[in-house]
Amino acid sequence: MRRSVCSPFVDYSSTVPAGYPLAGCSSAEPASVSPTNSDSPPAVTIQKYEHAFHLVFWDLLKPNADRGSMLVKTILNRIQKFKGFVYTNVQFEDSSSRRIIVDIKPRRGSKGRCHKCMKRCSGYDHLEQRLFDFIPIWNIPVLFRYTLRRVKCPVHGVVVEFLPWAQGKSHLCNSFRVFLAQWGRLLSWQQVADRFHVSWDQVYCAIKSVVDWGLEHRDLEHVEAIGVDEISIGKGSSFATVVYQIDEHCRRLLWIGKDRKAKTLLRFFHEFGRERTEKIIAVCSDMWKPYLKVIAKKAVNAVNVLDRFHIMKMFNDALDKTRRQEVSRLEKDGFEPVLKNTRWLIAKRQENLTAQQRPRLKELLQYNLTSVRAYLLREDFQQFWEYVSPFWAEKFLKEWIRKAMLSKIEPIKKVARSLRKHSPLILNWFITRRQYSSGIVEAVNGCAKLTIRNAHGFRRFETMEYALYHRLGELPMPKSTHIFF
Ligand SMILES: [Zn+2]
Repeated sequence: MRRSVCSPFVDYSSTVPAGYPLAGCSSAEPASVSPTNSDSPPAVTIQKYEHAFHLVFWDLLKPNADRGSMLVKTILNRIQKFKGFVYTNVQFEDSSSRRIIVDIKPRRGSKGRCHKCMKRCSGYDHLEQRLFDFIPIWNIPVLFRYTLRRVKCPVHGVVVEFLPWAQGKSHLCNSFRVFLAQWGRLLSWQQVADRFHVSWDQVYCAIKSVVDWGLEHRDLEHVEAIGVDEISIGKGSSFATVVYQIDEHCRRLLWIGKDRKAKTLLRFFHEFGRERTEKIIAVCSDMWKPYLKVIAKKAVNAVNVLDRFHIMKMFNDALDKTRRQEVSRLEKDGFEPVLKNTRWLIAKRQENLTAQQRPRLKELLQYNLTSVRAYLLREDFQQFWEYVSPFWAEKFLKEWIRKAMLSKIEPIKKVARSLRKHSPLILNWFITRRQYSSGIVEAVNGCAKLTIRNAHGFRRFETMEYALYHRLGELPMPKSTHIFF
């Protein structure tokens, strides 16, 4: 879907076997120590346990001077072991420093890997020593210190070796990156930066790489229903087209594209691929003409369902327009301002009104006002959604359109005309057995709007794109031997 990026993450779980040895020292643990060996006589078993206890806690029983450094190393060996490398020394940077430095060295005799083909090659020379930010312990920064090697690859020449804990020239360890990205789903990016003493840019880079990885590794099979919508971004009238998967088993953001033109949606179908598009059986959308055209052209096996949410939104806009026109007319003619502050009163459905709003609405309905008639027509239309049979739904729709056209309320007549024009697509909702309700698209779109609203400082479209994918894309995360968060 997006440009593919060479994965910075390695599935470390494969490097750590099941039943990972305890405390980093038990690689020498004899098999007979295993507590599952229930056939042994009890006295021997106790002895064995004692032996195992010594193996496991040996480093903790060492003299005090060593204990601190050994402990961090033990933890690291347990949760983040890198094949071919060893942790050598763990200490504060200097007596006054609040940074922990963990030295890493290649295991003796172990050759470096070419970062392009991952083959082990003979060494060429050494580069400068570099520091890599790891996840802080108790809010104390932890840094890996390592002197990079260059290797001589028969295919790629002299290249920098592959590091399993970091990517490219980045100073952030892969685990720290995932850690920051996970927090970035819960807090604003600035809050994450402040909390973990990194810059906003570093949080952005962390999220970017995790999202790129997720997009590359996500499963796009079994997408049967999609929702197409637009979303307003930033100030002014700039829009983005968003495509969601709205299947029962999976609801997520699939794609974002700048603008809301036919070309934008065409781009989605192009990137999604013909084979996958042919498997789509339902597309939920609004009545935006460019979208309808593209959907009809591309999603040939799909039923285009007009979204209930967007239809009802059209009603609410018409109601509001009628009300505003009437307010100014009443004011001009010197009548009582009965319609003042009633926007939400008539926009809401009756069952959603508060206890205070109910008597106010009852009172308002007694007036012979155009807005009241428009309101009653909308309430009447709500019955449409209760139908099960497409046949009776169609009959109701026709009858309602007839009534609305006689109402002499221009905004309502406009809605009726639009419903008449799109009635086959509206009735598709009943054909899909009312499976794809508006609530789904509406809910995901609500989350997307919230992400944009909370995203202060997302000036570039690309940044916002990453934020939306990260929050709503349900993307897989790179695996790690330890869940840090
Ligand atoms: Zn190579």
